Amino acid sequence: METDASVGEHTPGRRDEIARNLAVVENRIGAACAAAGRPREDVTLVVVTKTHPASDVRLLAGLGIHDVGENRDQEAAPKAAETAELALVWHYVGQLQTNKAKSVAGYADVVHSLDRIRLASALSAAAARHEREITALLQVSLDGDPSRGGVLPADVAELADTVAALPHLTLGGVMAVAPLGADPARAFAGLREIASRLREAHPAATMVSAGMSNDLEVAIEAGATHVRIGTAVLGVRPSLR
Ligand SMILES: *Cc1c(COP(=O)(O)O)cnc(C)c1O
Repeated sequence: METDASVGEHTPGRRDEIARNLAVVENRIGAACAAAGRPREDVTLVVVTKTHPASDVRLLAGLGIHDVGENRDQEAAPKAAETAELALVWHYVGQLQTNKAKSVAGYADVVHSLDRIRLASALSAAAARHEREITALLQVSLDGDPSRGGVLPADVAELADTVAALPHLTLGGVMAVAPLGADPARAFAGLREIASRLREAHPAATMVSAGMSNDLEVAIEAGATHVRIGTAVLGVRPSLR
């Protein structure tokens, strides 16, 4: 029975379904941290809510989730506006076109997909206009396939210096998606080295965003500080984009 009016419209039973899934994911994260000899507090769960309604975001907030992620501005902007009173941390995890920087800077607290200097400048200028500070993660391409976004490992240092020097952006660290068909353990080990090199020049850039529903354990083993989980919490997405 739902007694909290602030939760809004959702299918009966949806809250229980999400709570059960969250418990399973929490167990997986806890076990992976224990196996890696890391404290549980090292890892932040970001629930990726793309294709799911704002009512799910409200349910997540009621279940103690603070961090939510989206990958398309057209969907994220209205959802963040509808749930603005919840004081959530919004993570923008999708590829980002420069002309969308203005909108994304209005709600995103962390952008995981910064991968080029032009985008960094646009995001910095947009954040200034909104009088907001944005944490920027450099998305690294681990397979050299530019169609999926990401800066090449060889270009990380220059992009990092650029972001660090821009006002209204804070260099947070790195992000990657495991390449399709590749061994995620190998890919995330590569990311760990890139993250470690980045920290030599920028010691405060400690965030490592890696791991999704299928590979969160290997990501945590390889040092992930932020896992981005959609399907394992909210179920199979209603439609593929
Ligand atoms: C959708 C998405 C996720 C979540 O993926 P799941 O496999 O559903 O957990 C994580 N990261 C990015 C960049 C995404 O677009």
